[in-house]
Amino acid sequence: MNKKLNRNDPCWCNSKKKYKHCHFEFDETLKSLSYQGYPIPNRKLIKSRKDLEGIKKSCQLTKFILDELNTIIKPGITTNEIDKWVYDTTLKHHAKPAPLNYKGFPKSICTSINEVICHGIPEDRILKEGDILNVDVTCIIDGYFGDSCRMYPIGNISQQAKRLIDVTKECLEESIKQLRPFDPINKIGDVISEIAKRESYSIVKMFGGHGTGNQFHEDPFIFHYKKNEKLMICAPGMVFTIEPMINEGSEECIILEDNWTAVTKDKSLSAQWEHTVYVNEDKIEILT
Ligand SMILES: [Zn+2]
Repeated sequence: MNKKLNRNDPCWCNSKKKYKHCHFEFDETLKSLSYQGYPIPNRKLIKSRKDLEGIKKSCQLTKFILDELNTIIKPGITTNEIDKWVYDTTLKHHAKPAPLNYKGFPKSICTSINEVICHGIPEDRILKEGDILNVDVTCIIDGYFGDSCRMYPIGNISQQAKRLIDVTKECLEESIKQLRPFDPINKIGDVISEIAKRESYSIVKMFGGHGTGNQFHEDPFIFHYKKNEKLMICAPGMVFTIEPMINEGSEECIILEDNWTAVTKDKSLSAQWEHTVYVNEDKIEILT
């Protein structure tokens, strides 16, 4: 339970403002949503100004790396070479790659090719014309995390593959556009489900987005599909990822023997796009 504050007390968020001029309205809004049966975020999930500044810096480096990869990724390169470039670039910017040694993950990025859904491990496999590649990058600067991933077509790709990539991107962008502060995060899965259904694609259920910023993975879990139960309210100050994984065929996945690589059971193509977002007073802000 949070301590009962009086209106003239300093706010719990350390802004040094009076509670009535700071998070009083915020708390009242959450209280009424809680009465309606929605889980509300713990105050630990509401980022301070200082946290947000740190998270933004880290997200900017992640974005820079993903931008630069557009010029580096081409037919003939191996995923190990991409990994090495990201490792070197991250260190050059006085940052650390979060995936490296995370629960024993051996590399600095995840590289997921074609039927790989996510968590592919960089290797000496040479990328060839027509492949589709996802690169997932998370940087840490001063203890703050910035997490994002994108799709990279290798040379010319099929119309079919291009459509999957474009629709998956639409799922991410549209869910960000339609989500409003104080909405339940159900909205994300609702929007993505509509789009996937329209295209007869399936949504991966085994993995989701997550709170992030001060740690790699924080609450809440972000579902990319429709849930009937009431999910947490997305309140101003929260930072989380949205990262839909969309399959051309069935939603079923298998984890390979390396205990990381997730692939589609029917070997159909899978695509993923991800942003770290910040819930502003009036909109959802993309940080990556
Ligand atoms: Zn406050």
